[in-house]
Amino acid sequence: MKKYRPATLALHAGYDCGQNLQSRAVPIYATTSYVFKDAQEGADLYALKKPGYLYSRLGSPTVNVLEERLAAYHGASAAVSFSSGSAANSFLFLALASPGKNFVSSPQLYGGTSTLLEHTLKRFGIHTKFVDLNDSQALEAAIDDDTVAVFGEGVANPSGYVVDMEKVAAIAHAHGLPLIIDNSAAPPPLLNPFDFGADLATYSLTKLIGGHGTHLGGIVIEKGDFNWGQNQRFTNYLNAPDPTYNNVNFWETAGEPYYREGRSTAVCTRLRLDMLRNFGPVLSPFGAHEFLLGLETLPLRALRQAESARLIAEHLAGHPKVAWVAYSGLTTSPHYGLARKYFEHGPGAVFGFGLKGGFDAAARFIDNVDLLSHLANILDARTLVIHAASTTHQQLSPEERAQAGVPDDLIRLSVGLEDVNDLIEAIDRAL
Ligand SMILES: *Cc1c(COP(=O)(O)O)cnc(C)c1O
Repeated sequence: MKKYRPATLALHAGYDCGQNLQSRAVPIYATTSYVFKDAQEGADLYALKKPGYLYSRLGSPTVNVLEERLAAYHGASAAVSFSSGSAANSFLFLALASPGKNFVSSPQLYGGTSTLLEHTLKRFGIHTKFVDLNDSQALEAAIDDDTVAVFGEGVANPSGYVVDMEKVAAIAHAHGLPLIIDNSAAPPPLLNPFDFGADLATYSLTKLIGGHGTHLGGIVIEKGDFNWGQNQRFTNYLNAPDPTYNNVNFWETAGEPYYREGRSTAVCTRLRLDMLRNFGPVLSPFGAHEFLLGLETLPLRALRQAESARLIAEHLAGHPKVAWVAYSGLTTSPHYGLARKYFEHGPGAVFGFGLKGGFDAAARFIDNVDLLSHLANILDARTLVIHAASTTHQQLSPEERAQAGVPDDLIRLSVGLEDVNDLIEAIDRAL
């Protein structure tokens, strides 16, 4: 399906009606297990001598269409989905690291990912050094012999911080390290991290890809041209016999022969055969079906939501009661230059803004506003709003909130698909 463009792949890749009773839509295969024709077939499937389904923890047909479709949509070699975006990040980190190893990460992260890296993984001996990835000297200084990957988010919310992916990838690659981008807030057509040097992308499917706030899911996508054999640091896991699976070496069997043509699946093979099989955080076929429906309209929704966000950000920037707007598509943003470089259609649909009246004014805005839903998610088809200081970050002191980039007057907006004039009018009424 390589010859087709992403919007076409979003509808067709990874699925063949001829294999599915001519069903035009992708069916939901609600089954845990698959009947082996005879003893030999069972043995061959288990030994990976024959491709096919065994038990749905290791893969299932509806989920597989989603994985193949999203890989094709990114021009990538493979993908493995998980029960949530947090699970996708967690199990990618666990697949790449072992005790004593470390990640170098941007501090501008989704709160759950910061906690995972800063506290949860630390208990397992995996450490994270947080540095401004765009500060090349700081990045170089943070990388050491035990670093296994560099991690950041394409565009972080609510600050609008943009990772200079080309520059960061060049430094990571010079050290033989992969760059991982959590691109939940800006899937293509907004940004394809593989166009700018990333080697692995993760997504919370819960957000713009699902797009309707109906289900949690996550996915890891592998570009397929990274050489894991070039670097000694990977010889104790990805490039080593794996005792959990017949001592298979994932790099030698699924990577080395293929990476030169960009078809390595070493990481995804390990994610499936080790992480999914042994930890078990699978996406259900029902969830996969929701995400397949979302993906069909993603190219349209993403552009509309990004455009409405730009119009609203520009409107807010000119409003007398608004103190600041952290939308990196505004020329006044410190991230404007990078946003222009990486986001042809605008840097997504989520941004923060502050009111001159501070904490109280922000809380009043939330109480007054109609049409916008006050809740913790982002990138639903409906417009969402949250006052972080009184909700998600209420346990922190004002000083700690400031450090986390969450000032007391911050209101985070996730712009949906409503008519943008209705949104602007609703915001003006509440202000
Ligand atoms: C929401 C989100 C996650 C976590 O995803 P869940 O599906 O909620 O587990 C991770 N990273 C980013 C950037 C997110 O926005």
